[in-house]
Amino acid sequence: MDKRTELEQLGEFGLIERLNPKRRIINTSTLFGIGDDCAAMTYGDKVTLVSSDCLVEGIHFDMVYTPLRHLGYKAAVSNFSDIYACNGRPAQLLVTLAVSNRYSVEALEELYEGLNLACEKYGVDLVGGDTSSSNGGMFLSLTAMGECDKDKVVRRNGAKVHDLICVSGDLGAAYAGLLVLQREKAVFMANPASQPDLSDYQYIIERHLKPEARKDIVQWLSDNSILPSAMIDVSDGLASEALHICKQSNVGCELYYDKIPVDYETIRTLEEFNIVADTGALNGGEDYELLFTISQSDYEKVKTNKNISVIGHITDQSQGCNLVTPQNTTIELKAQGFNHYKKQ
Ligand code: ADP
Ligand code: MG
Repeated sequence: MDKRTELEQLGEFGLIERLNPKRRIINTSTLFGIGDDCAAMTYGDKVTLVSSDCLVEGIHFDMVYTPLRHLGYKAAVSNFSDIYACNGRPAQLLVTLAVSNRYSVEALEELYEGLNLACEKYGVDLVGGDTSSSNGGMFLSLTAMGECDKDKVVRRNGAKVHDLICVSGDLGAAYAGLLVLQREKAVFMANPASQPDLSDYQYIIERHLKPEARKDIVQWLSDNSILPSAMIDVSDGLASEALHICKQSNVGCELYYDKIPVDYETIRTLEEFNIVADTGALNGGEDYELLFTISQSDYEKVKTNKNISVIGHITDQSQGCNLVTPQNTTIELKAQGFNHYKKQ
């Protein structure tokens, strides 16, 4: 009998590795591919960065609480975020859409309002895509293309021992917003006449439904002549992303629990759900903040930026990837963020 391996045995990242063993690169224009936030092609001094993301109804979004305008905006922004994560600037977007006739033209126009708004805000041209019918739900695939000077591209694999680990903004907010929306959906399903009062949760719900990519951070780093040694965007949770950087860079890390930036509204909401704020911030996904490493000599510059927190440092690989608690105990860093196919 042919061997059958279940997807959940590999998980999302194991599957990608299994399907994509090291391939011989055929074109000199291919700079790098699988394993970073973008693929990179080079023509002369410029590098073109390309990143694809797909969104599937019922997996990535729930039509009950995701307005289509927000879905379009978020899909585009999360795609641009991958270009920023390689220190690039997004410039073009391709949109591929498969929808069933359950959707009206007006609904899809709303989706495009969101896509257009994001493109306008981030200075990106929507230049093409593909459209198909679908038997069930909606499937959306976006491909962003961006540009970067060849000597400015930042990958996940450049972190060095003693580098400082930095993160922009605050973490866990999008996850906290999602928990509130899921709770309100359950209430609504039980009693469709109920009107949720979400005024206490505005920040976190906005972070979930209408996230922003950190164009400002990439610009600030460039203005201050700081070139991160490694960078990734936080889409699957801080712990998961830190482990990606360490694995690709062959280093270890020490992250300090009490340095992880968490907004007050996030802390308060996670408490309502009996989740320790730091745990939510470590594992909650879709923050689209930037996690990056810098040389210690850039510390004086970085500490002047209130939107950047230094949360740890890079260690030798033999020391592993660890979290230091406020009580000064060390625990192993584990990825519990979202991973397709793994049992959650
Ligand atoms: P991100 O969260 O930054 O979008 P992913 O975790 O989705 O990145 O993907 C990790 C890496 O694996 C990326 O370099 C991506 O291009 C690559 N990858 C993902 N899915 C596939 C696939 N089906 N075939 C080839 N490469 C893939
Ligand atoms: Mg990414």
